[in-house]
Amino acid sequence: MGRHYRRPVPKTVADAFGIGFLVFMVFATFVFEVKVVLPHIHTIDITVQYFHIIVGLFITFNIMSNFLWLITTPISTAGLLMPSLLKPNWRFCAICEGNSPPRSYHCQICDECVLKRDHHCVFSGCCIGYKNFRYYYGLLLWVAIGGLYATVLNQFFIWQALGGLTYVTVFTHIFPFPFWLFGYISLKCFCYTFLSVINFIGFMFATGLLYYHSVLMVNNQTTYERNNGINQYSLGNWRTNVCENLGPNWLAAILLSPMVKSPLPRNGCDYPTLKDNLINSNKSK
Ligand SMILES: [Zn+2]
Ligand SMILES: [Zn+2]
Repeated sequence: MGRHYRRPVPKTVADAFGIGFLVFMVFATFVFEVKVVLPHIHTIDITVQYFHIIVGLFITFNIMSNFLWLITTPISTAGLLMPSLLKPNWRFCAICEGNSPPRSYHCQICDECVLKRDHHCVFSGCCIGYKNFRYYYGLLLWVAIGGLYATVLNQFFIWQALGGLTYVTVFTHIFPFPFWLFGYISLKCFCYTFLSVINFIGFMFATGLLYYHSVLMVNNQTTYERNNGINQYSLGNWRTNVCENLGPNWLAAILLSPMVKSPLPRNGCDYPTLKDNLINSNKSK
């Protein structure tokens, strides 16, 4: 029987820093775009500004709601009734002092066995597992969209703020800190440039992770399974594998809101393999 408590998020200093950075950057970017960037683009009128603000609110809402669902969804074996006899492919976790299902692994930071554990994410301070992967994927998608949106808008403002597009301003944009330190740009300009850099890095980082986790998802694999050449849980085609990871209503859940119902097909402990699926479909014929 597993232990029945869950350590609160964040569990380490790195986690606290990661969460603080993500939340601060999301709100700072929204305020920056609305209060600084949009009013500076003289070519757009007020209705277009309102359109950008509504899109920005929708993006911010999706980032923050996926984030909240991600960190609050129970993902571990704690509190679940685990069998007292070891079933095939199950393991005994000496730290939890209980049996753990296939695909679950113990996280040293969370101090619990996480169902279908992928990795421990510092930006949310929790593990990514079977039950919260959907929100992690939504978070990545919306951070990538938000980062790209802000980066495009910033192009209409940041070069003007730095004094026109030249080799020096390109360098200033890449390394704003030394330019501010040696007095070439003001503190205000440094903050604007820093946000602009972070928006671009956020977009690149989230897009890279989104691509990586999309590849894992269409093969129904975790990072550990991919690194160890295990792909027995792939159910044959990408659509079935995506439903296994995000639920049947995945497109609406990812694109509209994490509140859209898309129940996961498994209990987090038992996963069919392609062989089981073929046997079951033959039986039902
Ligand atoms: Zn454990
Ligand atoms: Zn963890």
